[in-house]
Amino acid sequence: MISPLNGDLARLFQNPSTFLGFKRGFQPFFQCPKCPKSYTHFSSLQKHIKWGCGKEPQFQCKSCSKRFYLLGQLNWHSKLKHPGQS
Ligand SMILES: [Zn+2]
Ligand SMILES: [Zn+2]
Repeated sequence: MISPLNGDLARLFQNPSTFLGFKRGFQPFFQCPKCPKSYTHFSSLQKHIKWGCGKEPQFQCKSCSKRFYLLGQLNWHSKLKHPGQS
């Protein structure tokens, strides 16, 4: 059995201000202090604050002009939506 008190969950109790509660299904979620976005993973919230919050998406898909906050999101999108292109 895996303890729920690992990784992000352990950190969440050290950062009670970012911990809002549990969604249905006992999923913890974290709300950005600066905007209404919330995330189920604390690391996702950290990435959002660092790279996404209050910023325009920096990375644009060359094939369909969709924009992304993270290069990884763009790469993932390209793989899924435009396979065979680089
Ligand atoms: Zn935000
Ligand atoms: Zn695209």
